Amino acid sequence: MDADPSLIKVEQPREETSGPSLIEFEQTRANHFFLCSKCRTHIVLSKATKWIDPVANERFFEDEVVNVKVAGEDKKWQENSRTYVEVFCLGCENVLGKQTIAVESENVISKKGRYCLSLPKLIMWDGIRLLYAHSCQPVYDDPSSLKNSSATDDEQETTSS
Ligand SMILES: [Zn+2]
Repeated sequence: MDADPSLIKVEQPREETSGPSLIEFEQTRANHFFLCSKCRTHIVLSKATKWIDPVANERFFEDEVVNVKVAGEDKKWQENSRTYVEVFCLGCENVLGKQTIAVESENVISKKGRYCLSLPKLIMWDGIRLLYAHSCQPVYDDPSSLKNSSATDDEQETTSS
């Protein structure tokens, strides 16, 4: 056993050349979570939901949201006495919603730091399959199978507002 010292490799610290490393949730039956609809980056666990707005098709979360970045304060805007910045997916830069960065008075909906994610921008892992978060329709990887969407059960929710 003669180890050649020239062959000993020194572990180089990994440099961030290949983009940011993304957090992944365990895709199990018990773990339900939301993903970016465009690139399927994992975004937030379903159980972390703080509030749902079914009319605006939005869900509110706090700092449990992962793999996102927010716009700079120079891009902020005001709406209903709250100040927002846009929230982007770290994987594909798609806008997923907004984050409240300032509020006039805090309450259950209105809270500083709260993320408001738009359901049409997300898909959901429900423990068995991937669903479109806003319609709960299954996501098919094969586009041709979309034609068979009439085969789904008649309990589908359609919000026509
Ligand atoms: Zn994405």
